[in-house]
Formats: sequence, structure tokens, C-alpha cells
Amino acid sequence: MKLLLHACCGPCSLEPTRILRAAGHDLAIYYANSNIAPADEHVRRLATLRTWADGEGLPVIEGLYDPAAWKACAGRVGTAALAAIGGDVLRSATEPSAREARCRACYRLRLSETARTAAELGFDGVGTTLSVSPYQFTEVIGEELERAAAGAGVRAVFEDFRPFYDEAVRRSRALGMYRQNYCGCRFSEAEAEAERKARKAARAAERAARTEAQAAERAAAEAERAARRAERAAYDAKQAKKRAVLKALRERRRETHDGPTGRDGAQHEQQGPRDGHRHFETPPARPLAAWLAKRVRPLKAKRRAAARRIGGSDAGWSWGRDRSRPRLANRSPSQPAPTRP
Ligand code: SF4
Repeated sequence: MKLLLHACCGPCSLEPTRILRAAGHDLAIYYANSNIAPADEHVRRLATLRTWADGEGLPVIEGLYDPAAWKACAGRVGTAALAAIGGDVLRSATEPSAREARCRACYRLRLSETARTAAELGFDGVGTTLSVSPYQFTEVIGEELERAAAGAGVRAVFEDFRPFYDEAVRRSRALGMYRQNYCGCRFSEAEAEAERKARKAARAAERAARTEAQAAERAAAEAERAARRAERAAYDAKQAKKRAVLKALRERRRETHDGPTGRDGAQHEQQGPRDGHRHFETPPARPLAAWLAKRVRPLKAKRRAAARRIGGSDAGWSWGRDRSRPRLANRSPSQPAPTRP
């Protein structure tokens, strides 16, 4: 079929032209988009479309650019719809029903002109690339295409190209084509901007909430560490106190067992016990050898010295075994018995 295909821009034309050509249609592209504002944007999209279509061998017919006509129909409907929701552009962007009437009027203007031109130029049918976008009202596009074709006496070739949208995006990026970020009219430009701002604000709020949650987690972890440090400090203090008590007990025990030291001990040694009784020091369990060396051996030496002074023998008065002499039990019968000094 000789088909006049309405195209809104270059990227949206990639997949519909491929599919319609594969189906055997003889295509020509019709660029009729009075909705696009500002005029520079209209020119830019047309230039992108032409550059690509020339490479594909597809003829491009430029339609009327009549922003006043668009403003008189779709623009008027859009203004009324926006006023009905209190000028809330974000609501218009996020609620399809708030902008459907405006878009229907927009489709009607562009597709009617395309169908009329198709009839005038001898095309058998008319189609559109608008149905590749998931952001458009696909059913409404189909209805308006049928209506326009019927009015012009040509056949409507409508197809839902949305399943090929991702491939169209991929190909247009690969080809380095200019890709606009709004549909075309001034309403859609404001709506796209409001949506971007809302998404940005939502991302910022999400980040702030995440940061706050992380701060709360960090504070909880720090509080836990502080509690552990305090617990450890209390334990260390308790251990230090225990060590001090044990040290004091050891010192007291040493003083008791190792003999008098210090002022009270010296007085005890010089004056003897105050109760008039003789007190024997209890030998410590250890070190016994040190205690003996300190207390017993001087007494032995004193006894021997006294024995020598009076010319007697100190044999037999040893409190321990005198290893320089033979044992008494082994004494020879010829040896005289030891006498007391
Ligand atoms: S959003 Fe797109 S289809 Fe709807 S009125 Fe604006 S330009 Fe037309």
C-alpha cells in the first residue's frame, strides 16, 4: 500500500518505518506537528528526521507549522483542563485523565491534516508513528486515525508499536540522534519539568531518610560501644580494688610471719613483749631456711663462743647436726662424753 506516515520526530520513526516497510508498504513520511513549541524545537526535530530519512531513502514531506491553529484547539482545551485542577502542572503530568482531552484535540489536528494530504497526494492509506510511545494515549490515537482517514476517504493503517519502544530508544541512541525530553507542546514541557523536579525531590528525600537511618544506627552502635567501655572500666576498677586488698593482706601476713619490722617491731625486739611472758616467734612456713639462718644459727654461734670462753667443749649442744663432727651415735667409746659448758 502507498502509505503516508505521520511522524512526530526521528527517533519515533525508526521502528514503525522498519515494520511497515517489512510488511510491504510504500512509505513517505509526513511531518505535521503544529503542537511543537518553541519553533526552534520544531526545526530541530525536523532536521533530525530528515538527516536519518535521507540515509534510509525515505521521502519526507513537511506539513504546515501553524502554532496558532494548535493553540485555538488543543491549546484551549489544555488551558481549560489545567484551570480545572487549579493549575497543578504536576497533577496534569501524573494523572493521564487530566490531559487526555488536550491530547485528543492535538492528535485530531495533526492526523486530520495528514489524512487530508494523503488524499490530495494520492496515497491509499495513512498511518502514524505516535503509537510507539508508551507515554501517549494509544487507543485515542487509533480512534483519531480512523476518524481522520474516514473523513479524508483513505484507509487507516494503525498498529500499536509500543512493544518496539525500547528498541527505538536503543537505536536512536546508537545513531546519536537528538532525543527531546518532552512531547512537544508548552504544557508537556512544563509537565516534564515538574516531573523531573518531583523525582529529584523524592530521591533527595530518600537519601535524607537513608542518611538519618544510618545516623541512628551509628548512634546506637556508639552507645553500645560506650556501654561496653563503661562495663570494662567498672570491671577493671573492681579488679584493681581486689588486687589492692590482696596486696595489703600479703604485706600484713609477711609482717606477721617474717618478723617485726618498722617502729613497732623494733620496740618489740628492744623491750620484749609487754605482758611479761616470753613469746616464741612462730616460724613461717616458708622460707624456713631463711628463718633458721636469721634466728637459730646466731644462737648456735653464741653458745659455741661461750663454750670456748670457759674452755669446755660445745659438743652435744648443737641444735642441729654439726657436720664437722661425727654423730654422737657413732662416737668411739674411747672418746670422752661431752660435757655441758
Ligand atoms: S502532550 Fe503531546 S500529544 Fe498531548 S497535547 Fe501536548 S504535544 Fe500534543
